Amino acid sequence: MEPPGPVMHAYALFTSALIWVVASGCSPAQKPLATPPMEAPESVTPGPQPIDWSAFESVSVRNPNDGSLRGGVPLPLAAPGLRFNPGRDPNARYGTVEMVRSLIDAGSRVHRELGGLPVTINDLSREHGGPIPHHRSHQSGRDVDVLFYQLGPAGKPIESVGAFFDQTGAGVDFRDLADPSDDVYLQLDIPRTWLFLQALIEDDEAQLQDIFVAEHLRTLLLDYARTQDVPAATLTRFAEMSCQPGYPHDDHFHFRFFCAPDDIKEGCRDSQPIYPWQQQKLKAAGVRPLPLAPARKRAKAKIVTHEEAREAAGPMDAEVERWLERRKGWVDQPHPGRPYCR
Ligand SMILES: [Zn+2]
Repeated sequence: MEPPGPVMHAYALFTSALIWVVASGCSPAQKPLATPPMEAPESVTPGPQPIDWSAFESVSVRNPNDGSLRGGVPLPLAAPGLRFNPGRDPNARYGTVEMVRSLIDAGSRVHRELGGLPVTINDLSREHGGPIPHHRSHQSGRDVDVLFYQLGPAGKPIESVGAFFDQTGAGVDFRDLADPSDDVYLQLDIPRTWLFLQALIEDDEAQLQDIFVAEHLRTLLLDYARTQDVPAATLTRFAEMSCQPGYPHDDHFHFRFFCAPDDIKEGCRDSQPIYPWQQQKLKAAGVRPLPLAPARKRAKAKIVTHEEAREAAGPMDAEVERWLERRKGWVDQPHPGRPYCR
């Protein structure tokens, strides 16, 4: 999914079946693959010993929307507190060393402190970056989609699906869209979801840039975090860097990370905004951020259109239709008073 900008109409929401989504090129949940996934590439294998990250070296090249990746690191299919979505193409799980390490560390922190089920990670980038199906960005190893932690019946942790969540944090996994009897009622797992965010935000080595999420879910998370013992700087950063872009992101987060200082020297380019704390970090490292490079004419990845997704979704029962109608109420939310979320 994309940062704020022109809305690129594309639809794609999937639970076990395709539901639908107004996506700017970011399909959230377990999309049934048209072709069987290729064999999973070899990944970093977390074991009892901590991973020696100094053995990895990656470079994020050019822009998130028009770039590539050198030395991309594959996210493990499974690690303590984390899994790559088994419904996604395993070739779409490469990122920079900094981002992959940060995701593994955040999943592991939630697992250690709160238990529950692993966080579900959707697409990162391809091994060498470049255009990737269903996304406009995700090209340079610094973008990743992550499903929310969720609670199912009896408030127990449940494997995450790409369901929409409303202002109360309630959602439904519709499964068969035409059959109301198989619906599973969900609740956003706010404590675990918040702790995952907190871990990413507090990771100074990785430097998260953007948290794209629906305005009403941002409010739920922020209200919760304010009741917890959270450092003021973490709260401020979350409040400043979380935005609802053109696609509402009520079913997953899209995270973007800044270029690592070493990568800037190799041509990694950051979108705006560059926050004061990031400017300071770069200054200390003796580098200046590079502005986005002019877009090149390149082959574009295929984005599913509204009509295609709606047709693929097939018939829908009244409850699904009702949700889609309610959802229109939060699709176009402004970012009140937040200078970084224009
Ligand atoms: Zn995305």
